[in-house]
Amino acid sequence: MTARKVDGKKIGRTLEAAVAAEVAALSKDAAVQLTAVSVGGDGASDVYLAGQEKACSRVGIRFKLDRLPGTVIQQELEAHLAEVASDPRVTGIILQLPLPKHLDARRAQATLDPRKDVEGVHPANLGRVAGGRGVLEPCTAAAAVHILEAEQVALRGAEAVVVGHSEIVGKPAALMLLDRLATVTVCHIGTRDLAAHLRRADVVLVAVGKPGLVRGDMLRPGAAVVDIGINVVPDGAGGTKVVGDCAPDAAAAAGLLTPVPGGVGPVTVAMLLRNTVRAARLQRGLPATV
Ligand code: NAD
Repeated sequence: MTARKVDGKKIGRTLEAAVAAEVAALSKDAAVQLTAVSVGGDGASDVYLAGQEKACSRVGIRFKLDRLPGTVIQQELEAHLAEVASDPRVTGIILQLPLPKHLDARRAQATLDPRKDVEGVHPANLGRVAGGRGVLEPCTAAAAVHILEAEQVALRGAEAVVVGHSEIVGKPAALMLLDRLATVTVCHIGTRDLAAHLRRADVVLVAVGKPGLVRGDMLRPGAAVVDIGINVVPDGAGGTKVVGDCAPDAAAAAGLLTPVPGGVGPVTVAMLLRNTVRAARLQRGLPATV
């Protein structure tokens, strides 16, 4: 069997089209604006910021970048986030990670206005996901589940294994699968026999950051596999390439597999835009549509 390759770009663009229609309707009253707060800044986050700006322009969301010097202290960062949150023109806020080492990212994220937290990282938004009432859900977890739904993978009653238990990817993804009535197992660094769990799984989500962790022989034939990992590895020709957490032979065992790059990544960007429009509606007292 060769896995059906998921076209993340296509799924992302379909979602973006729905978001663009919402943005157009909302913008008749006031613009939808996403503000990214970046501290210091390095090459990698600049690439990510440029991608966010481009994505916003595709759907009509206004994008603004606030760049703070790398020397800001925690209080100054939190004061800036509070100022941005109180600006009625700003409908969504992203705190760009990673922050310089002297700053506490989780503490800063907890000071965000939850109604403007479009990455879904504020404890209140994570708590709503746990309660089965997520609105601003963590983008990557939401993207992984959205891909399974877009590909019409049956989740009710499915054995699902989530590998990775981070606060904003593995854990919320597991909760979202649970809400769709999958039987969910979460594996992590302490799991004794990963392969034994994976072999039972109809659905696998892997978010670890270890290339080659999930091999074909560990999968149940025909399993739907969402590879969330992003790893930069040597390409064998003196350069580097990006790969996920699945070994190349996973494609021969799985029934469906998301490629890296081109799988979860573009859908995560679309989810950020979806959350931005959801946040704008929330602030105007409107229910979420897309
Ligand atoms: P994290 O470092 O916070 O968590 C890693 C998780 O992997 C932990 O739960 C840990 O217990 C588990 N783990 C480590 N070694 C393991 C092993 N040998 N077996 C089983 N589990 C193991 O990472 P994160 O922030 O959740 O990100 C995970 C991966 O997803 C990274 O590669 C990251 O770059 C990628 N990611 C991708 C997107 C995207 O948009 N595609 C977004 C966020 C993160």
